[in-house]
Amino acid sequence: MTPQIIDFSYLVAAVLFMLGLKRLSSPATARAGNRLSMLGMAVAVIATLFKQEILSFTLILVGLAIGTAIGAVAARRVKMTSMPQMIAIFNGCGGGASALVAISEFYRVSPDFKSFMLATLLLSVIVGLVTFSGSIVAFGKLRGSISGRPMVYTGQRAVNVLLAAVVIAMAIGVQLFPAGATLFCGLILLTLLLGVLLVIPIGGADMPVVISLLNSLSGVAVSMTGFVLGNNALIIVGSLVGAAGLILTKLMCEAMNRSLSNVLFGAFGAVKGGVAAAGVAAVTTGAVKSYTVEDAATMLENARTLIITPGYGMAVAQAQHAVRELSDVLEEMGVQVRFAIHPVAGRMPGHMNVVLAEANVPYDKLFAMDDINADFAHTDVALVVGANDVVNPAAKNVPESPIYGMPILNVDQAKTVIVLKRSMRPGFAGIENDLFLRDNTMMVFGDAKETLQKVISHIKG
Ligand code: NDP
Repeated sequence: MTPQIIDFSYLVAAVLFMLGLKRLSSPATARAGNRLSMLGMAVAVIATLFKQEILSFTLILVGLAIGTAIGAVAARRVKMTSMPQMIAIFNGCGGGASALVAISEFYRVSPDFKSFMLATLLLSVIVGLVTFSGSIVAFGKLRGSISGRPMVYTGQRAVNVLLAAVVIAMAIGVQLFPAGATLFCGLILLTLLLGVLLVIPIGGADMPVVISLLNSLSGVAVSMTGFVLGNNALIIVGSLVGAAGLILTKLMCEAMNRSLSNVLFGAFGAVKGGVAAAGVAAVTTGAVKSYTVEDAATMLENARTLIITPGYGMAVAQAQHAVRELSDVLEEMGVQVRFAIHPVAGRMPGHMNVVLAEANVPYDKLFAMDDINADFAHTDVALVVGANDVVNPAAKNVPESPIYGMPILNVDQAKTVIVLKRSMRPGFAGIENDLFLRDNTMMVFGDAKETLQKVISHIKG
């Protein structure tokens, strides 16, 4: 294949990626978007296989077989509730792979670098390795292998700034003296450490921002590697991922009503963590009122309007099909049913949309927070299915709360709030929620799916 045909194939692949991304913006077209992007990736990979620089097809085939096997098993085995961890690992793999390619190029070309190539190579190594080690920490936090709370110590910010300065100084050193392999090895190790130290102080409800930022960084690393290898497909794809991740990061920050610097350096929940323990007593005088499935069913049957608010617990319980069935049954009885989706509900952007789409809940029943929040005040029942942080009124009422200022779904304004969860345990942010103690709240304890199934049979029977 001539270089022109290869570059034209890359152009076709880039257009397919862009069309794919565009379609990913709506649940109705997301599947088609995925297919277009897969086609784009296939075109890019096949075109690359025709490039003259391929040294060993055997090695590529072995890598392809191993990667396909791991991907196929993961796609089948990994549960929906573990998708966020998987995304963290994907981000880490993207960054790590880019850095490995750049590192191998360093040793292949050294010391005859062109300065632009070496600069992009160093950027690829730094951004790729920070993404890699930072994503491993994010993976551990999401999986629960390490504490999700911020880990902070005195002078943390100064240590991070100093370490970042040392890494940059070492990169300049390598740029000036490219033969210095020891300096390059030191750069690799310190950059890995920097990734870890940058992510450990971030925790609680700020994790969505970190994940989208790491996603963006993995794209930047890929793009830099594209410059190192002179590969247009990598440059374009990396830029698309970088830009899309950055837009998502901005959206997530807006959803949390926080600035990016506040997320990165604010150590969520650490400074004011004491409020978490004291929160309930401080802001409420109510007591937990536990209700039966029959009580909840009667309340739902008699409602005229209902807003269902799903959260991470719905995904854990795999309650989406029962939610859909309940919505169908109540609609047949004349109840107006809608769904309120908080941008950071669940554990990954769009988590609730994906899970509800799996149960074929019609898209026109799903409302974004800003489009439905004003309606809670005129709604008979708000049914909270495994949500906690995203409905916590402390975000509005308790200035000392770590989530103060984060926009929440105003379920507390509905005439009656029915909350389905298993216990009084807090959500991801680790803070108490006085919604559960309010006079208009009915707590129905138990696994959300089982509770909903019982409610449905009570209403039907
Ligand atoms: P939360 O984590 O705040 O709360 C989930 C609730 O679900 C828990 O309180 C839990 O209570 C309940 N639950 C768990 N299992 C079940 C079950 N089987 N049946 C019924 N209830 C169950 O979730 P939210 O969706 O409200 O908020 C998301 C949080 O995650 C936010 O803090 C957000 O910042 C963070 N986050 C979001 C990401 C994203 O991209 N969306 C990424 C990373 C973090 P109990 O144990 O008592 O049942």
